[in-house]
Parts: sequence; C-alpha cells; structure tokens
Amino acid sequence: MGMAARAGAVIADPEFVQFHPTAIATGADPAPLATEALRGEGAILVNDRGERFMPAIHPDAELAPRDIVARANFRQIQAGRRVFLDTREVLGAAILTRFPTVSKYCRDAGIDPVAEMIPVTPAAHFHMGGVKVDERGRSSLPGLWVCGEASCTGLHGANRLASNSLLEAVVYGARIAEDIGGLEPAGQLAPFKGIEWDEAEGNRAEEVLRNSLAVQQLRGIMTNLVGVERHREGLQQALRDIAVLEAQAEQVTTAYLNMTTSATMVAAAALKRTESRGGHFRTDFPEPDPSWEHHTQMTLGEALSIRAAAR
Ligand SMILES: Cc1cc2nc3c(=O)[nH]c(=O)nc-3n(C[C@H](O)[C@H](O)[C@H](O)COP(=O)(O)OP(=O)(O)OC[C@H]3O[C@@H](n4cnc5c(N)ncnc54)[C@H](O)[C@@H]3O)c2cc1C
Repeated sequence: MGMAARAGAVIADPEFVQFHPTAIATGADPAPLATEALRGEGAILVNDRGERFMPAIHPDAELAPRDIVARANFRQIQAGRRVFLDTREVLGAAILTRFPTVSKYCRDAGIDPVAEMIPVTPAAHFHMGGVKVDERGRSSLPGLWVCGEASCTGLHGANRLASNSLLEAVVYGARIAEDIGGLEPAGQLAPFKGIEWDEAEGNRAEEVLRNSLAVQQLRGIMTNLVGVERHREGLQQALRDIAVLEAQAEQVTTAYLNMTTSATMVAAAALKRTESRGGHFRTDFPEPDPSWEHHTQMTLGEALSIRAAAR
C-alpha cells in the first residue's frame, strides 16, 4: 500500500485496521494467536483479579464482535490489569488435541494451557483498507492491479468477518489473472533475464529492518496513538512524530519509507473520520455518525496536507 500510495494511487478506507482480541502475550514478535474458536467453545476472559469483565460490556459477553472484545481487553491493560483467556473449565486437557497449534504456542512460551490461563493482548491483525481497486482488481494507476490485503475492493466494511480475506484474495487473484490474460504489454520491454534472489538474505534484511530503532519507534507511535483507541490530539501527535522519524531516519530505505507512508495514510484518515465505526474507534467521537456511513478515499498528497496541518 505504501509503494502504491507513493506512486499516486488512490487508497481507500486506510483508517480501518482490525485488531485481534487475543494474541498470546508472550513477547514473541509477531505474537501468536489464541484462536477465537476458543471463545466459541466457551472460554472466558478474566483479569488478574479473577474478574470476568465481558458480561458487563456486551450481552454476548466473550462472543461480542471482535472490535468490542479487543477494546475491552485494551482498556483492562490500560488500567494496569493483565488479561487471560481461561480455557480450563470448558476444555481442560482436550485443548491439547482439539487446539494443538494454540497448545504448542503456549508450551513454547512455558505455559501449560491445561493447568494455566493464557495471557492475551489485542494485536494488529488485518487491514480492511488498501489500494482502491474496481471489480477487476484495477487500481487508479494504469497497469497496476492489486489483490489481497494490500487492496481495498470494497468487500469489507469497517470490520472484516473471519476468513473473508482469503476468499477475497482467491476471487480477486483469479479476476486479475483473467483481466491481464492476453493483454499486450505497453511499449517495448527488455527481455526478462531472471533475478538472483537469495531468500535467506532477504529474510535477514527484513529482520534487521524490523529490529531497527526507527521501526520500533514507528510501531510504538502506531500502537499508542493510532491503535485500538484514537483521539484527535493523539492522531495529530502521531502525524508529527511520523514526519520527524521520516526526516531523521539516517538511511531512509524504500521499505522504511513505505512503512512511514502507510502509517501517515492510516493516521490521517483516522483523524479525518470524526466518528467510531467497526475497527476505527475515536474516544472523542465514540458513536457512529450516519453522515460517515461510507467508504473513504485518500491520496498520499491529501494525507501529507493533513500531516502538515497537524504541526
Ligand atoms: C495470524 C493470522 C491469522 C489469520 N487467519 C485468517 C483466517 O483464518 N482466514 C482469513 O481469511 N484470513 C486470515 N488472516 C488474514 C489473511 O491471512 C491475510 O489477509 C492474507 O494472508 C493476505 O494475503 P496476501 O497475499 O495479500 O498478503 P501476504 O500473505 O502478507 O503476502 C504478501 C507477500 O509479499 C511479500 N512481500 C512484501 N513486500 C515485498 C516486496 N517489497 N517485494 C517482494 N515481496 C514482498 C511478503 O514477504 C509476503 O510473502 C490471518 C492473518 C493473521 C496475521
């Protein structure tokens, strides 16, 4: 999305980011997930005082929509509590055979899921926004088709129902292949010589970038100011901080610029949408506003104007 935005593509709904309510809080990066099927089985959320807090928040308690559960967990953690998923009564030892992946994640972190509760935290999970495409996967830039999570087809709203993302990727991948098939390449293309790609080297470069101070700082800004809950001052601060990081980064790699660009798009659109809906929650505008009941579009140019005005 960052690359396309820098090339001038129209981006749709960048403010809508979905948080998974129950990533396992072991400090692992990326955090492994405690699947929502566990709550479907009847697992409950409790804090470190043993209080079950979801029934007071939503009639469906732990089965409330993803964003509501994520926000409830976030607020517990903000208030200094720790949050746990308790599967012991409802699953007991059956968690080992019925949820082997979660059990393995727990064992890797030194947690016995049969006897202990699983520490959890919300984590960024899916971006409903992305490069705006039409029903053939065509973006606003001639010659650029986009599918998968980088795109915004309009299929998702302010939230995403589980598994719709993979279905969308498959459907649009096929549509794009069909649309491109048989097209003559524009102009003369140099003969393709193949690329020497060293996967281990690529992975190492990604690891170095991910662990760099600049990326850690960017992630901190996004988590604290553009995350589960947002408000005007925080979003303006985030935009100022992202601009400073971008200007200060000693060696601005393209990959880092793509990250700060994406961050700018998300924060600027979140500042513009003065209401709460789905994955986007503003503490200063906590209710949905019918006048905002629509998809949004933004170019990097507009996002940079909003960023400049936040100074
Ligand atoms: C933990 C987890 C569980 C999920 N579970 C589900 C689920 O059950 N059902 C569901 O529908 N969705 C699920 N999702 C969402 C779904 O997995 C993603 O939306 C989907 O995988 C996105 O596919 P993609 O091909 O668009 O992107 P990705 O799978 O992210 O693939 C992008 C690829 O591009 C590569 N890449 C990045 N930058 C460059 C570059 N500059 N040059 C070359 N290559 C590059 C990356 O290495 C990567 O291989 C889950 C997501 C997470 C994080």
